[in-house]
Amino acid sequence: MRAHVPAYELIAARDLLHALAMLSEGYRPIAGGTDVMVLFEAGKLDHKKWISIRAIPELRYIDVDPDYVTLGALTSYTDVRRSAILAAEFPLMAEAAALTGGIATQNRGTIGGNIVNASPAADTPPALLVYDAEVELASSIASRWVAYRQFHQGYKVMDLAADELLTRIRLPRRFDGWKHFYRKVGTRRAQAISKVCFAGLRLGDETRVALGSVGPIPMLLEGEISAITPIDDVRSTARYRMQVAKNLMEEFLHVTS
Ligand SMILES: Cc1cc2nc3c(=O)[nH]c(=O)nc-3n(C[C@H](O)[C@H](O)[C@H](O)COP(=O)(O)OP(=O)(O)OC[C@H]3O[C@@H](n4cnc5c(N)ncnc54)[C@H](O)[C@@H]3O)c2cc1C
Repeated sequence: MRAHVPAYELIAARDLLHALAMLSEGYRPIAGGTDVMVLFEAGKLDHKKWISIRAIPELRYIDVDPDYVTLGALTSYTDVRRSAILAAEFPLMAEAAALTGGIATQNRGTIGGNIVNASPAADTPPALLVYDAEVELASSIASRWVAYRQFHQGYKVMDLAADELLTRIRLPRRFDGWKHFYRKVGTRRAQAISKVCFAGLRLGDETRVALGSVGPIPMLLEGEISAITPIDDVRSTARYRMQVAKNLMEEFLHVTS
């Protein structure tokens, strides 16, 4: 059932300060809208007051300094795919972006939206986890940096207050020399939601592995692959997901050895 359009209010942010002020008045941000509009179309968008942050220029850039590559929250998948520095130093971001949706979704969808939408099946979170990303959360009163591995706390539960906007994502430039590995297993290669998504880094005996679609939140693996707790759902079974995760781990260890 479609949503009743007049029941909704949508305003456009003039700039970042305006957006932050309106969040503290109960508005929620809409960026590319590729998740929000799906809910809207299905008549499942409960919240009624929205502010578009899409045209805020200070949220869309990829910046490089000696320690970090920093992405504004509005960085699109297309921006990620076109970035030479991400291709060179954080290729798993480019691979995740290339395997996300189709061209239209890649042009409109943002990395900030992918993080805050908090789907356990999203494709950039495993890459962000292995690269030890940090996210900046800003309100009209203060801003703070949070380690991305601590951001997701439960299914769609995040360390993010209602009046906070995710403004930046930064990636520490310390994975030079590591081998990078990314696999998305879905019903087909593109335009499919992951059944399992795997990101891995390796330097000699040291490995960093993260997975999506194997639990309520994207997961940075601390020990053995058997620690994951995949579930049965409409897209796959827990048993299949566990087997795929083990196979991907084997492939990762093989191709990076
Ligand atoms: C056809 C199609 C295919 C898709 N394929 C994939 C896929 O393969 N892989 C995948 O991972 N995803 C996929 N998606 C989902 C979606 O495109 C991504 O999650 C996208 O990154 C969402 O970004 P957005 O800017 O469009 O978010 P929006 O829809 O604008 O927002 C999503 C949520 O995040 C919040 N939000 C957005 N930006 C911020 C911010 N800066 N700070 C705080 N909160 C914020 C919003 O309030 C909302 O709750 C697909 C979607 C469609 C429609």
